[in-house]
Amino acid sequence: MTAILVVGAGFAGAVHARELAERGWRVEVIDRRPHIAGNAFDMVDSTGVRRHVYGPHLFHTSNDRVVDWLRRFTDFLPYEHRVGAYVAELGRCVPLPVNRTTINAVFGETLADAAAVQDFLARIALPIAAPANAAEYLHARIGTRLTDLFFRPYTRKMWGLELEQMAAAVVARIPLRFDTDDRYFPTETHQGLPKGGYTELIGRILDHPNIRVSLATAFDQAMPKGFAFCFNSMPIDEYFGFALGPLPYRSLRFHHRAEPRGYRLGTTAQVNFTDDGIYTRQSDWSLLPGHVLAAGPLKTVTLEEPCADHENGMERYYPVKTSDGAPEKLYARYRTLAQAEPKIQFIGRCGTYRYLDMDQVINQSLQSVRAWLAERGQAASARNTHADDR
Ligand SMILES: Cc1cc2nc3c(=O)[nH]c(=O)nc-3n(C[C@H](O)[C@H](O)[C@H](O)COP(=O)(O)OP(=O)(O)OC[C@H]3O[C@@H](n4cnc5c(N)ncnc54)[C@H](O)[C@@H]3O)c2cc1C
Repeated sequence: MTAILVVGAGFAGAVHARELAERGWRVEVIDRRPHIAGNAFDMVDSTGVRRHVYGPHLFHTSNDRVVDWLRRFTDFLPYEHRVGAYVAELGRCVPLPVNRTTINAVFGETLADAAAVQDFLARIALPIAAPANAAEYLHARIGTRLTDLFFRPYTRKMWGLELEQMAAAVVARIPLRFDTDDRYFPTETHQGLPKGGYTELIGRILDHPNIRVSLATAFDQAMPKGFAFCFNSMPIDEYFGFALGPLPYRSLRFHHRAEPRGYRLGTTAQVNFTDDGIYTRQSDWSLLPGHVLAAGPLKTVTLEEPCADHENGMERYYPVKTSDGAPEKLYARYRTLAQAEPKIQFIGRCGTYRYLDMDQVINQSLQSVRAWLAERGQAASARNTHADDR
């Protein structure tokens, strides 16, 4: 049996490994971290609460095929994500994305319906016909008060940029609701959390007699030589020794606090901070279904402090998007180098330098591995033949 090397035991690597193993390939999965599941890794900590170690992971999708594939390995606990934005001057949280409830709270209004909200926003918006940047786009849509409260400090903290430095397109997709729907993903047809957590889910995907997993094992340029092919989810610039320069990422430092079980900041598991402090958001894991595993007096609450990847041990979380598109252009040059590698395909978030949600990585991986198998005359099984092209 010929063997394939898969670098990375996150969703991208695990999906590739499973599909290959089911087609009869022997698969060696390596990961330099001491655990599987990549950035979706979760564990039960000393307070008895399940914590997502690399930030909150909420599964949401409208892709039935991804859900069908995952349901082979897990059941889902129903969960609809909601986010509160803590506004100090109100002393409480209001819904995000901005909706009618948010606007009424911030302005002390009693707008009764969508038409009233639209009239109100039209009155507070600035007359800017052709917004030149993100600040102008927001001013033209929602005025200065909502922009400065919900977008300006958060953007500065998250990206280290002023709204004036960002392209209008970056904020053009941020939803604004005229009703009181406070669900974060109202249009997704599937939302939920894997019943036993993400680590268990990925462990089950990797649990196949043809798959061997080696943890705490970093990729080495000599490794692929012993294999028929390599699917690689490591950062593509790192593979090429940063020959063209590093691809920039934002990262997050996580600060954990043990709080009494009765502690609450709002009613939502995620609270965003609108102030000028260092934190962008807080996760109260105990408010996610299935996340309190043991009784106890305390629970962990995690705060996020954004920073550059080089300020955080090269933990790469979010590809940086600048208005001149420089990072994407640099990635395109790495991709050209990669196309000259006949036995390696780059996969996943850092391999393809795209911020991808879990469902997108799973879908991308099913497509990629299925195309690879088809080229070798190995059609995918019927249950996996329909990943969407998203
Ligand atoms: C803070 C944060 C919050 C997120 N929230 C959500 C969410 O709510 N919903 C959602 O759908 N998605 C979310 N995501 C996205 C989600 O994490 C990704 O879609 C998913 O983890 C991508 O899987 P992957 O396998 O491509 O990458 P990863 O999970 O990063 O896995 C790649 C693996 O490769 C390993 N690796 C890297 N280099 C090497 C090397 N040289 N040698 C060996 N191993 C190596 C890494 O250690 C890692 O384990 C979030 C991401 C972040 C960062």
